[in-house]
Amino acid sequence: MRFEELTEYFKRLEATTKRLEMFDILSEAFSKAEKTDIAKTVYLLQEELLPPFFNVQLGIADRIVEKAISDAYGVNLETVKSENKKVGDLGEVSEKYNKTNKKSTMSVTEVYDDIFKLSSISGEGSVEGKISALSLLLKKISPLESRYLIRFIMGKLRLGVGEATIMEALSKAKTGSRNFKSELERAFNLCSDLGHVAEVFYDKGDSGIKKFHVEVMRPIRPALAERLPDAEEIIKRLGKCAVDQKFDGFRAQVHKDGDDVKVFSRNLEDITHFMPEIVDAVKKLKHKKMIFDGEALTYDEDTNTLYPFQITIQRKRKHNIEEVSESFPLRLFVFDIMLLDEQDLMQDSYRKRRDIVDKTFEEESTISKSKFIITDSAAELTKFFEDTVGSGLEGVVAKKLDAPYSAGARNFNWIKIKRSYKSQLNDTIDIVILGYFRGKGMRADFGIGAVLGGVYNKSKDIFETITKVGSGFSENQFKELRKMLDDVKVPHKPARVESIMVPDVWVAPAYVITVKADEITRSPMHTCGMEKGVGYALRFPRAVSFIRTDKRVEDVNTSKEIIEMFKNQKRVELK
Ligand code: ATP
Repeated sequence: MRFEELTEYFKRLEATTKRLEMFDILSEAFSKAEKTDIAKTVYLLQEELLPPFFNVQLGIADRIVEKAISDAYGVNLETVKSENKKVGDLGEVSEKYNKTNKKSTMSVTEVYDDIFKLSSISGEGSVEGKISALSLLLKKISPLESRYLIRFIMGKLRLGVGEATIMEALSKAKTGSRNFKSELERAFNLCSDLGHVAEVFYDKGDSGIKKFHVEVMRPIRPALAERLPDAEEIIKRLGKCAVDQKFDGFRAQVHKDGDDVKVFSRNLEDITHFMPEIVDAVKKLKHKKMIFDGEALTYDEDTNTLYPFQITIQRKRKHNIEEVSESFPLRLFVFDIMLLDEQDLMQDSYRKRRDIVDKTFEEESTISKSKFIITDSAAELTKFFEDTVGSGLEGVVAKKLDAPYSAGARNFNWIKIKRSYKSQLNDTIDIVILGYFRGKGMRADFGIGAVLGGVYNKSKDIFETITKVGSGFSENQFKELRKMLDDVKVPHKPARVESIMVPDVWVAPAYVITVKADEITRSPMHTCGMEKGVGYALRFPRAVSFIRTDKRVEDVNTSKEIIEMFKNQKRVELK
């Protein structure tokens, strides 16, 4: 496919306010793509050069783009800068000064490869190098292409296309039906690389997708836990189950291939460099190939106790990692294993996988393991929960004994209960920011008084509104928030957002915050779980976190979870 054709689709995607239309546009675009450019098309739509675990960053600043536009189109640099100030979108600026009326002939692959080269220019003279490479590319493309190319390299494409919609559209484009989406999803959950999945699908068809299995160094999308209010509910649902200590640290998925070790975060970023002591310990394990799952925490060797999460998270902000790992070493508590040498354990029961964990790892070492019980008694589960919480941990995770590893899924194979769950809605809720309202009174000075927050409706792949949050932010956070949100503002409601409320400014779903509320109530103003004109809303919400960089927008709470929480809350009230 030619890049220009793809940008025509971008234009249509940008204009749509309906998810179904978005799906149709994507299916049409995918039906035009070849096997040689489908992966790159998917990455461009996902607004990334490669999935996060490749750690490829473009790092193209405004000044580089401004100079490249100025050089490419022979426009005075000051003029470009002032135009950028005026419209706040260098994509539009580039389109305006690109006066060519020649049709561009570059393919998606050629443009993608040129962008990739830009990302690899580093070291001394890299600014000049990037400017000249970018201006060369700008000269070869049409005005519309330059609009989207610039937005892409600046991380501001904001088409708002979700993974689920991409998979559904790929299925439709290749097989004529949406039904193959679940197979694509299975493959995606095993490798976390949608471009790669699309390429195999185009190259080898459905049989290629059906053969997908886990591979070392390709992160598996992590299994997630559902929640239930108490031990009785858990036993009612799982019967005899394993109950595991729950630690509050970094989720760490470890891959080992001989001396090669990589650690991936919950978000599937490569966090190997944060954890030198874990990497060293993993290298010493005798198995050649391994993939296992655990939680890494800072612990005090002298007292043999764990430090609070705040100490563990500090490591992400420090540059002197080696020193920090000496003074605040990490311990990894392994709780699952997905591959051991030639054995793919994904479909094996939790019981079998846990037996392997127990045989493979020691207790009191850097690579440690969680403690657990197996029980069918609610009283015993409650006692283990209380002892665990009493020892300073966060809670427990109950695990279904005969369940496979549920890559990329939140379901009742794992059920968490945390300390705070005991009184309902002490639990926090993660929401995605969908827009903001300009403030009144003092808030008017910041130009923002509240944000519109939404949750994720997974089956429809859309965001539904649940609340308006105006408290919990400091003055500085409000100011920063305004800046960050203006950077992702969009001219109309994004296609994957369903809302009755209309904020003063719509933003692309990009940022997650955690809020606390007093209660979940029914409301006709919010679209979360809406049926017959009545949805669900949060009463008295307040932010308890600033932007959560560890969560993607699809990781916020789902509408289904909110409805569950609402039911549980009701039940507790009746007691
Ligand atoms: P989630 O990760 O489920 O979206 P969250 O970020 O709010 O939500 P929690 O509610 O604290 O996280 O619980 C889930 C997380 O608990 C897992 O992602 C994992 O990192 C962590 N965890 C700690 N101990 C365990 C364990 N023994 N088994 C499974 N997960 C555990």
